[in-house]
Amino acid sequence: MQGNIHLSKCPVCNSTTIHQIITAIDYTVSNQSFEIWHCNGCLLRFTQNIPDINHIGPYYQSNNYVSHSDTKKGLINRLYHIVRNYTLQSKQQLIHTITKKSVGKLLDIGAGTGAFAKTMKSKEWDVVGLEPDASARNLALQNYALVLNEPAQIDHLEAQSFDAITLWHVLEHVHDLTGYWGHFKRLIAPQGKLIIAVPNYTSYDASHYQQYWAAYDVPRHLYHFSPESMEKLASINGFKLIAHYPMWFDSFYVSMLSEQYKNGKSNLIKAFYIGLMSNLKTLFNAKKCSSIIYVFEPTQ
Ligand SMILES: [Zn+2]
Repeated sequence: MQGNIHLSKCPVCNSTTIHQIITAIDYTVSNQSFEIWHCNGCLLRFTQNIPDINHIGPYYQSNNYVSHSDTKKGLINRLYHIVRNYTLQSKQQLIHTITKKSVGKLLDIGAGTGAFAKTMKSKEWDVVGLEPDASARNLALQNYALVLNEPAQIDHLEAQSFDAITLWHVLEHVHDLTGYWGHFKRLIAPQGKLIIAVPNYTSYDASHYQQYWAAYDVPRHLYHFSPESMEKLASINGFKLIAHYPMWFDSFYVSMLSEQYKNGKSNLIKAFYIGLMSNLKTLFNAKKCSSIIYVFEPTQ
């Protein structure tokens, strides 16, 4: 199809031992099917034949795409917003803990409607937020008087100036993976921390729901990371993993959506059970959580 990118090698490790593993449907916007491929080299999965940067826009046009909306309609959205307030506080505390700084300079890439950037600003942090979606940037301005910049501004930021760079469920969306890691390396302060949260297809909920797992979210999610592939990606680009944390609520949220996709209707009890199972397994191995926060440091 015109405007689609076919990958003949793994976008993380360049291995050509890649093969189709499942086919998933875009339940949010287009109802189109997309192949998900698996790399034997680094265990990355990636969406195949993805729309290129000039053709992906329409796949984000949905009122249901909750990441970009502030609607409080419907049970899932209401729960999402309650949990979001709690997670915003947890993220803020995490930044303080891992940077060992009470104030500093932060770059939030994919800032959405600015909730996290605003939270850090309220703690006196110097925050630069980048967001490609113009309507999300407008909401940040309206709701928080917060000015977010277009991603192209990343070229003009000062080298080695950021104590923390955050990507909350963003890296799986970016076409230019190598380009972004180049920016991280250039912009991170010598003792700075790179914080990347992404879904984990090796989680229990992913294994349970298979092609219905909501965090495959094709074609918006271009990459589906395992802990191994994320560490490989970081090390290729001059970063080392220093910590990782589970995102407990994601197991429930993703299971709720997955249950809808699988059975055409919501089943909160079943979803709660699967989310709980996923989190129980995570208690014994944090790399089994539905989504993981990875903390990286630049290698010298
Ligand atoms: Zn690979």
